Amino acid sequence: MAEASLLPSLPWLAAPLRRALETQTAHALLLHGPGGVGQFELALLLAQGWLCESTTVPLGDRPCGVCASCRLVLVRSHPDMLVLVPEALREALGWTTGDTEDGGEEKAAGKKKPSKEIRVEEIRAVIALALNTSARGRGKAFVIHPAERMNDVASNAFLKTLEEPAGDARFLLCSAAPDALAPTIRSRCQAIALGLPPAQVASDWLRAQGVVAPEVLLAGCGGQPQDALALARLGVDAAAWRALPRRVGDADAAALRGWPLPVVVDALQKLCHDAACVAAAAEPRYFPAASLPTDADPAALVRWANALRRFARDADHPWNADLSVESMVEQGREALQTPRSARRDGGVDSLHSRR
Ligand SMILES: [Zn+2]
Repeated sequence: MAEASLLPSLPWLAAPLRRALETQTAHALLLHGPGGVGQFELALLLAQGWLCESTTVPLGDRPCGVCASCRLVLVRSHPDMLVLVPEALREALGWTTGDTEDGGEEKAAGKKKPSKEIRVEEIRAVIALALNTSARGRGKAFVIHPAERMNDVASNAFLKTLEEPAGDARFLLCSAAPDALAPTIRSRCQAIALGLPPAQVASDWLRAQGVVAPEVLLAGCGGQPQDALALARLGVDAAAWRALPRRVGDADAAALRGWPLPVVVDALQKLCHDAACVAAAAEPRYFPAASLPTDADPAALVRWANALRRFARDADHPWNADLSVESMVEQGREALQTPRSARRDGGVDSLHSRR
């Protein structure tokens, strides 16, 4: 793989990139799999690889990173490449383009909340460019990420282009939720699954980014290395993650102070999930087994899980975030710390299997 790519390189993408460059000829690919493993990065590399003009680098080793086309891609001004990402995601993806032309109108229109959707105006730009002649003669490449964020109107408009593709346009759709895509869109794409990287590769990569004890956060993120890095960059380290079950068990809401609300909800849902696993004598997934209580109250865990689900729905616009977090943590304490002996009304609970 070339040194030069648009975003920091992810070592586990080398093999899938080579495979896709060497074997994929479809005009539309759907890159799918769990989030946080680099679908967007793979799509960008593939697009760059398709447009690469190297005369010496073999197809499977592209993009070369140095030819005229690669250089244009790297400064994000290749005339035959277009990348669509909802405004609200651009910063997190490292895809802030300076908004020279496309975002100008909106800025002038006032301080609107950044859109989470891919809108029909953006899809129209794709359709128009797809119909143009390729400026550099190597076709055109389009990246749409995440594809399920196309709203219905955008999705319908795009479908026509997918159905009757202009000869040299190729599309890369990324999705961690392909079921949320219109079936008509899905069925016109060749699917490529991008799975979790091997834990060792992911840990080594995280360590190289300065993450200490990366396996803890990696497990906390279900093996998704980009999510683990994002967590580390929010200031959540391995020690804080390991301590979370105990601190929630102590109703210590300060453990979550400064974490963005969606991260709080996610962490508490994972804790609830793992406590339920341990209570059922199963292996936890996100937290070290030793950090979890062995005598959580299953009924209280169910109540907590339901409350967390309701909370998750409103996590984007809570009326009082601090109060909500405190209430979630208090319910967590009830679930994690209710001593079994104190609830033995009729002895029903003694049927519960302990580790
Ligand atoms: Zn090149």
